[in-house]
Amino acid sequence: MPWEPLTGEQLEIRNLVRSLARERIAPRAAEIDSSHEFPWDVVELFREHELFGLLFEEQYGGAGTGTLLALVAIEEVSKVCATSGLILAVQDLGSLALKLAGTEAQKERFLPKVASGERLTAYALTEAGSGSDSAAMRTTALRDGDEYVLDGSKRFITNAAVASLYTVFAKTDPGEGHAGISAFVVEAETPGFEVARLEPKMGIAGSTTGELVFEGARIPAANLLGEEGDGFKIAMRVLDRSRPGVAAQGLGIAQGATDYALDYARSRETMGKPIAEHQIIAAKLADMETQTEAARGLLYRFGRMVDEGAPDAELTKASAMAKLYCTDTAMWVTTEAVQILGGYGYIKEYPVERMMRDAKITQIYEGTNEIQRIVIAREMLKESRASLLAGVT
Ligand SMILES: Cc1cc2nc3c(=O)[nH]c(=O)nc-3n(C[C@H](O)[C@H](O)[C@H](O)COP(=O)(O)OP(=O)(O)OC[C@H]3O[C@@H](n4cnc5c(N)ncnc54)[C@H](O)[C@@H]3O)c2cc1C
Repeated sequence: MPWEPLTGEQLEIRNLVRSLARERIAPRAAEIDSSHEFPWDVVELFREHELFGLLFEEQYGGAGTGTLLALVAIEEVSKVCATSGLILAVQDLGSLALKLAGTEAQKERFLPKVASGERLTAYALTEAGSGSDSAAMRTTALRDGDEYVLDGSKRFITNAAVASLYTVFAKTDPGEGHAGISAFVVEAETPGFEVARLEPKMGIAGSTTGELVFEGARIPAANLLGEEGDGFKIAMRVLDRSRPGVAAQGLGIAQGATDYALDYARSRETMGKPIAEHQIIAAKLADMETQTEAARGLLYRFGRMVDEGAPDAELTKASAMAKLYCTDTAMWVTTEAVQILGGYGYIKEYPVERMMRDAKITQIYEGTNEIQRIVIAREMLKESRASLLAGVT
């Protein structure tokens, strides 16, 4: 048995997810990409095998198996289909605000049906004029008796039109920046709320990305998460914990592409031998494997930190580093995989073409990798640490 970072129980569940991915999702991946249709059959598979439960605590109907295993599940599914891996990652993203800031009543009301997968979720922060700069958002939520009235729009929201529960960030105090933002749970059937359009995209083609429009949409005041003005802090705490889901997606894409390129390089011959035996190709394979394993080290470390109760303040940098490195690795590795396949790598019949397109988004969403670098550097500047060479002349 090769050395494994996972426990026996974690391995058992990983192997179950791995065989579902290989037997049930891999054969669908090319079709999901070409049809641009949301794969409800994959959602059904996740429901049947209780994979959504891996993201939730037992008390709310989940498996209670922790963050590391949830990340491993996203990685395994993303090895064969990044759109399907994203379904798990966004179920976490869209429900984290409830988990972190919801009252017991809110959690009991919403989480069990999310843990079973009966309801899908979405996270709506970005607007047309505010992506990296979320304080510039324009959507408002103004209190009117026992309700809030939402007006405005959100852009590029994953799971638009397939989610039935949306975490929406809006200004309860439009005159303020970060401090004016609040977080809400919005149900899909709310009058005045609609999905105005879905975007055609470069990759993750089966995932929906849409514009949400709110026109006098009234939601119960009981759907406010935390206090008025807590929204920005909640949004950032959510991203600290959800970005590793994107990292897991990137890691899965990178490993899937490495494995495919390795198989190909073993059997494709030029100049009388398998291309894997040409040193330049062998070096590419070695670098792909090494970077992917290094990325896994950062990601699994984050999973262990959460499972072992590391304080929130320590998660910000660890999460940003995992997201940055896993997703830059995904982009670099998939580009190399296409190169190893030569002309065949550029043809849709071979999965590395799709993997390269899918990898690109992982560097952009849930905070671009430029933003991750800013976050990491900011955290480094806060740390009180000195070079061992300080003062040495
Ligand atoms: C397919 C897809 C799915 C998405 N899903 C969701 C979702 O579910 N929920 C959601 O809320 N959003 C979602 N988004 C939005 C995504 O998170 C944003 O697109 C992203 O954060 C970048 O924002 P922007 O597009 O406005 O780019 P901008 O913020 O305009 O950035 C443009 C460029 O400038 C760089 N930049 C910006 N500010 C700085 C700075 N201070 N220093 C250095 N460089 C900077 C950026 O890195 C980028 O390269 C999704 C986007 C896509 C494409």
